[in-house]
Amino acid sequence: MLRTLTNVSSRFFTPLLDFFYPPTCLSCGILLSDGERHVCSSCWASIKLVHPGLGLYLDTRAKLLASRMIDDLVAAFVFEKEGTFQHIAHALKYTGFQSIGLELGKKVGEAMNSWRVRADCLIPIPLHRRKLRERGFNQAELIACGASAITGIPVCADLVRRTRFTQTQTTLSLDERAKNVKDAFEIVPDGMPVVRGKSCILIDDVITTGSTIVACAHQLRAAGAERVIAASSALAE
Ligand SMILES: [Zn+2]
Repeated sequence: MLRTLTNVSSRFFTPLLDFFYPPTCLSCGILLSDGERHVCSSCWASIKLVHPGLGLYLDTRAKLLASRMIDDLVAAFVFEKEGTFQHIAHALKYTGFQSIGLELGKKVGEAMNSWRVRADCLIPIPLHRRKLRERGFNQAELIACGASAITGIPVCADLVRRTRFTQTQTTLSLDERAKNVKDAFEIVPDGMPVVRGKSCILIDDVITTGSTIVACAHQLRAAGAERVIAASSALAE
């Protein structure tokens, strides 16, 4: 059974999951003001934004388009080592403050709106079920839900399945990364008619080489998707 999630952020995640959040900024440690959650507004403002003329954006987009699997790219932030984005991403992955994922997703949704990127559905890159069990949530799905809250595009979760438990990509070379994720995804049988002839936005947390998102796009294309757009909360060098 496929799940279509729309606007779950305000109704579900935020009030329940962040009941016991600390009142200090996870990045700089200052006391948060009213209305701020987990990260203070000056830390949010300090993260370098992606814009369509940015070299990193242009290089990543060219790489993705060269695969012939991806038609366009949209991203919100630049991932800098030891920078604020890394602190925020780390806090999301390892402290489990899921509303951070929704906030990141809202920024992606705002980028989609201002760049006029539209599609029929948002598809989060899935985690292998073993990793999902370990972590308890899929950060790409949270980002997709946040983006959906801003754009109104529905999230189609569980449409793509991760078939192999792949080792972490961070220590691998470009070629090794591509091999590592090749054939790591499949579309579930129920998902085929949902994808056929549609434009889809594939969502990941950070895009580095793009090998993961290209491998996943490969499966969407094979299932008949007409357009596949890559989206992420951040781009890394
Ligand atoms: Zn701060």
